[in-house]
Amino acid sequence: MELRVQLKICEGCGSLFYRAEAGGAIYCHGCEEKLRDFPAPESRKKRGRPARKTIPKIWAVAAAAGGAR
Ligand SMILES: [Zn+2]
Repeated sequence: MELRVQLKICEGCGSLFYRAEAGGAIYCHGCEEKLRDFPAPESRKKRGRPARKTIPKIWAVAAAAGGAR
């Protein structure tokens, strides 16, 4: 079995690293380790939505609190 690898530039630190052709990784192993503690770029974009959602949530809590009285 032949293992094909590509030389890639890490999106995180800019260093060269080899990746498995099928893997599709964009970060070197060091950055992958680091990024495990951080949200992925996709979830980072979604972070803006929960912030907006807090407004209706507060209203819902206020409405629930008002309705309880
Ligand atoms: Zn890196």
